[in-house]
Amino acid sequence: MRSIGHVEEAPHDGVPTVAFIGRSNVGKSSLLNALVGGHVARTSQTPGRTQRIHLYDVQLAGAPVRFADLPGYGYARVPAAVRRAFGPMIEGFLLGAPALFAVLLLVDARREPDRTTADFVSWLLDAGLPMQIVATKSDKVPRNRRGAISAKIRKGYGLPTAPLLTSAAQGEGIDELRQSIAALAEAAGGPQTP
Ligand code: GDP
Repeated sequence: MRSIGHVEEAPHDGVPTVAFIGRSNVGKSSLLNALVGGHVARTSQTPGRTQRIHLYDVQLAGAPVRFADLPGYGYARVPAAVRRAFGPMIEGFLLGAPALFAVLLLVDARREPDRTTADFVSWLLDAGLPMQIVATKSDKVPRNRRGAISAKIRKGYGLPTAPLLTSAAQGEGIDELRQSIAALAEAAGGPQTP
């Protein structure tokens, strides 16, 4: 793992990169750990404190992929000055990161669609960045409510496709997410051989 404070510090080695972003406490670290099958990302003790971008090099379907863990947004107790610094860092990374092929936007399956996230979805679509919405903590939602929740998220954010429901705690959707990431990498030019 390495961490960077600015997109200019990102390595230019051609490794296909996918960004993970979401509100603080959405379950991003837990999801990263579940995807990698180990303990790479630190689950946050104090949400919103991490202001650097963490880069994890992993293997996905036998090909190297880089996971970029972006700072969580929307945590009220983060000082305003820090919050203001998030925007440019995140924006700079998403618009300028080398070999970035997709953005995974994480939303809590239990949360109502919110304005900040909706604005972010619009921004991503305008920027032309391939995006997948991933709903986290699906184990907190009763099985018979999953379809309705999925439809609500899709509608609330005006998405062309349904979100992927995942649970880092129980493993639901983790394999599907790996496949989805590999497919997005493929669509962006195919996995690169080391
Ligand atoms: P981050 O701030 O987005 O990195 O979120 P964390 O991964 O630190 O998780 C925030 C909180 O949500 C922690 O208390 C986790 O234990 C909990 N959490 C994360 N993923 C899941 C999940 O799949 N199911 C449940 N029930 N709780 C989860």
